[in-house]
Amino acid sequence: MVDVRCTGRPPHEVTPVRIEIVAVGTELLLGQIADTNSAWLGDRMAANGVASQFHQAVGDNHGRITLALRTALARSDGVIMCGGLGPTQDDITREAIAEVMGVELVRDQAIMDLITKFFEARGRAMSSNNARQADVPKGAAVIPQNGGTAPGLICPVGNKVVYAVPGVPYEMAEMFDRAILPDLRARMAEAGEEGVIASRVLRTWGASESTLAESLQGRIDVLDSGGDVTLAFLASGIEGIKVRVTARARTLDDVTALLDKEEAEVRRAIDERLGDIVFGVDDESMEVAIAARLVARGLTFGVAESLTGGLIASRLVNVPGASAWFRGGVVAYHSEVKFDVLGVPTGPVVTEPAAAAMAAGAARVTGADVGLGITGVAGPDEQEGVAPGTVFVGLSLPGQPTQTRQLRVPGDRERVRQLGAISALDLLRRALDAHNS
Ligand code: ATP
Ligand code: MG
Repeated sequence: MVDVRCTGRPPHEVTPVRIEIVAVGTELLLGQIADTNSAWLGDRMAANGVASQFHQAVGDNHGRITLALRTALARSDGVIMCGGLGPTQDDITREAIAEVMGVELVRDQAIMDLITKFFEARGRAMSSNNARQADVPKGAAVIPQNGGTAPGLICPVGNKVVYAVPGVPYEMAEMFDRAILPDLRARMAEAGEEGVIASRVLRTWGASESTLAESLQGRIDVLDSGGDVTLAFLASGIEGIKVRVTARARTLDDVTALLDKEEAEVRRAIDERLGDIVFGVDDESMEVAIAARLVARGLTFGVAESLTGGLIASRLVNVPGASAWFRGGVVAYHSEVKFDVLGVPTGPVVTEPAAAAMAAGAARVTGADVGLGITGVAGPDEQEGVAPGTVFVGLSLPGQPTQTRQLRVPGDRERVRQLGAISALDLLRRALDAHNS
């Protein structure tokens, strides 16, 4: 359910060294494993200013692997193949590369010696299949294996290059960093295109994607007219809407300066039109934002949850060291628990006064400075004559009268509970920002 809309010129369109990933393995096509290698490689290349332009996944079939490789070489300057380098019959990447290069496979004695030693050291017999891992397309360079038995390959094809690495994620990653990235950098330097691409994500809660985009239209117009910075919007469901700023520059310092400048512009534009809706940066979740504010003010927190049944407490304890500021929570689901434990006055429990009493009760019962109470109707049926999606939040902060808010939350039961939890936490964030202590 992630909707990505990009604005401006994608930064990678200015790079001439275009890389394509070909992931080999029938299990990828059958959905038995997800292609995390390509995702990892894409992230790593972006961070290093390498243009990643296509991904292919192909099964363990000679004809289709050679077709995938020829397709990749026709439109990209370099190809990274991962998987199919092992010793079994279905590991045929080497043969496919040799065919596309139009060369023979040559058995490499140094690799043979290493494989032989590997098996001797483990007291195991080496099968003839293992020897295949010492086969290298003529003219290719070997990326020596650290542990394991399958080496990687760097294969020149005209002025282009094919890299082959094992499918095992940590072996792939280690070889990429050790051998492929340095080789790519050298090629990019030769093409005069070394650079860094970096992104920063601003996380927002409380505005729709279209409202957010409207508030940034001025920035989008400026960026569209040129430069090496772009904005993209990512709707992330119960995590809100993210604004991703991506920049490209020659060095890490330059790219960081571009991101700092654009982050300030974006924050200013959002703040002017929509107020304080940015709660975090990059992987700073709502609970991390809450933790930072409580710690900065020296306040502790307790929660009483009906509708959300512990979701808020569960989110808060995601933060390492939460015990420094999180006292605990009460899941007060039955009305009697609200009355008897939290001191909610007998009567309807899906109301603003009930939420207020729950907030005060949460602070009292857990011994916290700040209390939050949440009650509402998750649905599908109404309750006490209140419609599904109705949520009441109470907040009790030191030295202030208890505040309450009524929210209307869309969606089914699960969504109402999830959206209720993050909406309540966002109210807490804003109340803490407004609280002088
Ligand atoms: P090995 O020497 O272990 O046989 P290999 O190069 O032949 O290595 P594969 O047999 O294709 O690699 O894959 C080995 C394992 O690595 C797979 O079982 C899978 O767990 C993982 N793997 C392979 N390709 C990917 C991928 N694209 N993304 C994530 N994991 C992968
Ligand atoms: Mg294998």
